[in-house]
Amino acid sequence: MTKQILGIHHVTAICSDAQRNLEFYSGVLGLRLVKRTVNFDDPGSYHLYYGDSAGHPGTIMTFFAWPGAERGRIGSSQVGATAFTIPADSVSYWMARLREHGVSFEGPFERFGEQVLAFSDPDGMAVELVASSSASGIHSATLLESNEAATAALLTDTFGFKLVQKNGNRSRYALESSDPGSMVDVVESKSPVGRIAVGNIHHIAWRTPNDEQQLEWLRALPKLGYHPSDVRDRVYFHSIYFREPGGILFEIATDPPGFAFDESLEDLGSAIKLPPWLEGNRRQIEQVLPSLELPVKA
Ligand code: ZN
Repeated sequence: MTKQILGIHHVTAICSDAQRNLEFYSGVLGLRLVKRTVNFDDPGSYHLYYGDSAGHPGTIMTFFAWPGAERGRIGSSQVGATAFTIPADSVSYWMARLREHGVSFEGPFERFGEQVLAFSDPDGMAVELVASSSASGIHSATLLESNEAATAALLTDTFGFKLVQKNGNRSRYALESSDPGSMVDVVESKSPVGRIAVGNIHHIAWRTPNDEQQLEWLRALPKLGYHPSDVRDRVYFHSIYFREPGGILFEIATDPPGFAFDESLEDLGSAIKLPPWLEGNRRQIEQVLPSLELPVKA
C-alpha cells in the first residue's frame, strides 16, 4: 500500500465559551493547550488545540469557539464521542478528580475488556476516559451511523482498519499500530441525523505521513466515489476533506509540519498565533477575541 492512514490525527468540536473550554480540557482533564489560534475561515473566533506536551498527532482535540451560538443535537451522521486513554490503574484517581471538579459521570463500566468513565464537557459533548495500556492520547472515537456497512467498508477496504471486536450495535476497528488514535468504534444508531452546533463534534481527521501521500489520497478518493476538497493549508498540517458514506465530515491531515512550526515546544499555546495571511490583521483580530487565561495547575 503506497498511501497510508496512520490513525486519528485530531477531533474537532464546537464549544461556546473558550475560557470555560480551556478550564475543562486543560484544567480538569490535564491536556496541554498546544495552539491558540483563530478559525482560519472565521478569524474573529478562536480555534483552540489541545494535546500531549508536544502536540503529537493522535493526541489532538480542537475546538472552534462559537460564543452565543445555540447547542446542536447529537444524532447519527456524527462523531458521537471522543475517548482518551488513561493509565490502566488510574480509574479511582479520575473518579475522585471528576467529583472534585463537580463533573458527574457514568461508570466505570466495561467495554471490550476495558473500564470506561463517560461524562459531558461544559457544552454537553460526550467525553470518555478509557483505562488502557494503549499509548496515551486519543484512545478512540465513536462514529454514529444509521447504516454501518458503507462506513465499515471505507475504514477497512480503503483506510486499512480491521474489525477487531463487536458487541451489540458497537463494532471496533483498529490499525496494526501502537500509536494513539489507532482505534475507532462504529455504533449503528437509530436516532435521527444530528445537527452540528455547540456541543457537537464537527469532524474527525485521519493522519497521513506526508504531502506526497495526501496527493495520492486526493487522486484515489474520486475513483471510489468521494468528493475531496482541494488541499487546505492549516499551517500545522495540510488537509483535504470529504464526506464519508454516512455523512460525517472526514479530513485527511499530514503529520508534518506540526505545532512547533511557529513557536518553540516550551511556548506552545502561550500566545495567539496567526497564519501568515492573517498576520496583517492581527490588531483587529486581537481586539475582537476575548482574553484567555491558562488555568492554574491543580
Ligand atoms: Zn480538522
